[in-house]
Amino acid sequence: MQTATTTYKNNIGGKLTESSSKDYFEKYNPADKSELLGKFPKSNAKDLEEAIKKAKIAFEKWKKVPAPKRAEVLLKAAEITTKEKEELSQILTKETGKPIVEARGEIQEVIDTYHFFAGEGRRIFGTTGQSELPNKSVITIRQPIGICGLITAWNFPSAVPSWKIAPALLSGNVVILKSSKDAPLSGYKLIENLYKAGLPEGCASVLFGTGEFGDLIVRHPETKVISITGSVEVGKMVYETCGRMLKKCALELGGKNAIVALEDANQELLLDGVLWGAFGTTGQRCTSTSRLIIQKSSWSNSFIEKLATTAKKLIVGNGLNANTQVGPLITEKHRNNVHGFVERAVKEGGNVLTGGKFLTGKDLDKGWFYEPTIISGIKKDMELATTEVFGPVLAVIEVSNFEEAIQVANNVEYGLSCAIYTKDVNKAMSAAHDFESGIAYINAPTIGAECGGATAFGGWKNTGNGSREGGITALDTYTQYKTIYIDYSDRLQRAQID
Ligand code: NAD
Repeated sequence: MQTATTTYKNNIGGKLTESSSKDYFEKYNPADKSELLGKFPKSNAKDLEEAIKKAKIAFEKWKKVPAPKRAEVLLKAAEITTKEKEELSQILTKETGKPIVEARGEIQEVIDTYHFFAGEGRRIFGTTGQSELPNKSVITIRQPIGICGLITAWNFPSAVPSWKIAPALLSGNVVILKSSKDAPLSGYKLIENLYKAGLPEGCASVLFGTGEFGDLIVRHPETKVISITGSVEVGKMVYETCGRMLKKCALELGGKNAIVALEDANQELLLDGVLWGAFGTTGQRCTSTSRLIIQKSSWSNSFIEKLATTAKKLIVGNGLNANTQVGPLITEKHRNNVHGFVERAVKEGGNVLTGGKFLTGKDLDKGWFYEPTIISGIKKDMELATTEVFGPVLAVIEVSNFEEAIQVANNVEYGLSCAIYTKDVNKAMSAAHDFESGIAYINAPTIGAECGGATAFGGWKNTGNGSREGGITALDTYTQYKTIYIDYSDRLQRAQID
């Protein structure tokens, strides 16, 4: 097994291969910037060519393996991941800074995803149609597409790649994963475990690098599907390239998610939900609650005060400590970005109720820690009300009534996750329908998507382009339909003529 300070290699089709760039980047623990977790190759065009060559050969065989057999690899990978759950969770916490309990949850999501898609191996349903002509049948089948380029963000470096890898492989495709340079090891482990589970040579590769290298994957004529999780800005560039190449593209992008709290909300439930939604994963989830849209009421002012005093007590620290509730931000650059949002919000008239500063002190000086921050007095068109921060910063926006709350919730370019807290079933259901978002919660915060049959994870508006992950709809990204006509009339039958 490779140790923490190992120099890692590309995994090209199951073979550890030194990058032809002979160049590396270093990955440090965001909770302890002196801890080097490993050196990772700066993969280049030549490495990509090698991965493509192997993937093309592997695809010809893998696509012919019956789907229930392909599923067996996922089941085995689930078993291996279960055995290694604690080790993988520790890696995840060191890479991303997230508290260990959250890391365990993420690895569980990988296991659940493999189980779920393994089950789908016995389905991948097509349709049976009715022919217009006698003695003729029509069926549709779903077939794999080819090499899938999978590009992922750093914040869920195990779960999100598994959302892409599992349906892609199950459908008979082969994959090339580019992990984020800010969390490369978890993706590396995912691919390693798929090979331990019996994945045939060539079917999956993991390469490393920045957006520049990601762009090479997107532009390569042999990658037939691109699935990317990242920011809106990057998603737009990738979509443009895919559009020009007529390449299938799935975009899972940023969010500016809101909890709407009405005057009849259960206040205790709301308090827990807002704290978890806003500060879980240090606010670095695409679904993080970054706006609390609260109806002015007899209790709203005291609630906001209580929210701030409770947020101040959250335990911030190294995620490996069992009592840590909030970890660090991922990099120094990102912490500066987050702080910039706070400074500008204050200039625009926001009132910092708690937080707003870098956290310092013995162990806190070691990492990129930032205080959980709540800012009130935010108006619906201010930057903090409309732009993704991706950090532990909650904007409080006060509104007068239900209609205004929904209008403010929808007043953003993003459309990932919205929530409403109310005991009024009519308002709850109206909001669930009226939110311009791919996910709506009733009496639960905006984070915590589940994987499974009926669920579909993805966003409206600039959060994506209509694709979904985490449930059966993910198969739409990785399969293409073929319609097969079977004419058993023994004569020429002309559609629409005879
Ligand atoms: P990012 O957009 O900076 O990078 C995402 C990935 O894209 C990285 O692997 C990066 O190297 C690559 N990339 C960058 N430029 C590229 C280009 N021109 N061509 C190809 N690839 C390129 O995002 P990040 O900082 O890693 O992650 C944070 C963002 O991801 C946030 O906006 C967050 O909301 C979003 N996110 C969305 C989801 C979702 O499912 N909707 C889930 C997690 C994170």
